[in-house]
Amino acid sequence: MKIICIGRNYAEHAAELGNQAPSEPMFFLKPDSAILPHRTPLYIPEWTHDLHYEVELVFRINRLGKYIEPRFANKYYNEVGIGIDFTARDIQQKCKEKGHPWEKAKAFDGSAAVSRHFLSLEELGKPVQELRFSLEKNGEIVQEGFAGDMIFSVDTLIGYVSQYMTFKIGDLLFTGTPSGVGPVTAGDTLVCKLEGKEMLKVNVK
Ligand code: MG
Repeated sequence: MKIICIGRNYAEHAAELGNQAPSEPMFFLKPDSAILPHRTPLYIPEWTHDLHYEVELVFRINRLGKYIEPRFANKYYNEVGIGIDFTARDIQQKCKEKGHPWEKAKAFDGSAAVSRHFLSLEELGKPVQELRFSLEKNGEIVQEGFAGDMIFSVDTLIGYVSQYMTFKIGDLLFTGTPSGVGPVTAGDTLVCKLEGKEMLKVNVK
C-alpha cells in the first residue's frame, strides 16, 4: 500500500508557512515503512531539530481505481480516520531551498501515525465536509480542523491524484493539515480527536 499526502490544502496553513494557496492539488507519497506502529512512541530522529506535528483527516481507499471522476470518488472510500503527518521542518526547508524532493523530511520511519480505528461515514451520518477534528499537545488544543475549510475536497483530490496513479485497496489519503502546526519535543503527548472522539495518541521520545 501507499500513503498519498496532500500539501497546502487549508489556506490558513499555507499562509502560516509563507506559501501561496495552490491553484491545483499538490501531493507527495510516504512508503508503508513510514507507518508508526500502534502504541509505539515516536522517537525523534537525531538528524532533525525541528520536528512538527500536522494532524490530518485520513481516508482509506476500498476500491481499485484510476481516472476516477470526482462525482464518483465517494464510492472509493466509506470510512474516515485521523493521522499525523510528522514533518522535519528544518530538513524540508533545506529541500525546498534546493528544489529537492521532500522525502527525507516527510517519509522517514514513523512519520505517518494513523488511528487504529476508522469511523464509518454512514454511521457518522454527516457529509465529509462537516467533519471536525483536533490535535492536543500535552492537553492543550493546538490544531482544530473543519473539513469544509479544505481548498480541494476529498472527492476532488481523489479525482486529481488518480489521473497520475492508480488507487489500490488499502491506500491511505492524508488530506492536508489545518493551521497551528508546531514542534514536538521528547516527553510530549499528542492526542487526536475526530468528531470529539479520541482516536489516536502518540507519545514522543
Ligand atoms: Mg501534511
